[in-house]
Amino acid sequence: MTSKNIGLSRRPKKGTKKFAAAVLDLLRQQYPDAGPRLVFSNPYQALVATILSAQTTDEQVNRVTPALFAKYPDVKALAEADPADVEEIIKSVGLYKSKAAHLVAAAQKILSDYQGKVPADFDSLLSLPGVGRKTANVVLYNAFGKPGLGVDTHVHRVANRIGLCETKNPEGTEKRLKEVIPEEKWGEAHHLLIFHGRRCCRARKPECTFCPLLDICNNHREAE
Ligand code: SF4
Repeated sequence: MTSKNIGLSRRPKKGTKKFAAAVLDLLRQQYPDAGPRLVFSNPYQALVATILSAQTTDEQVNRVTPALFAKYPDVKALAEADPADVEEIIKSVGLYKSKAAHLVAAAQKILSDYQGKVPADFDSLLSLPGVGRKTANVVLYNAFGKPGLGVDTHVHRVANRIGLCETKNPEGTEKRLKEVIPEEKWGEAHHLLIFHGRRCCRARKPECTFCPLLDICNNHREAE
């Protein structure tokens, strides 16, 4: 389905709230299955899986987390772990040495500063080793159902191509997207843009011909 099918012959102005709503409507129809691909069953597991997912596919993370969670079932167990043992379990994941160190350090901080419970607010999450803005946003939404709009390189690229924003870095994109997308849709928007970036609007060869956003995409309109 394209924008023509749902009566968008009068294109909303790019970068506006109306434009963002139209984009999300189209993506929602295209990707009804959009959502987390990481496997987790509580905030602790969501945090660990999300830290592991940086610059690695979700599938790779899902391959190592069953063994990791079996050996370290909670924050306390991970806080007491030897990072070298964690490395051994996650070594098929990119950047595994620094991730192992971050996981253990994050668990230690949660134990000492947050009574062993993964904090459910943005600033506290951001204070944990290995947790940047993207991870904090993703954990907020995926683990706690709170508004969070994680922006990685996919979301940054896709949002700028479409015309949702004109920004130079993921932080600027996060700020702008949060202005034009209602808070209750932040998490959904993250997943929809990720799906679109993976399945259609890829970095090297975007599949514009088959794209549901073809008629309203800024990238395509500039080429007209
Ligand atoms: S038309 Fe092309 S550049 Fe625009 S969102 Fe679709 S795939 Fe990406």
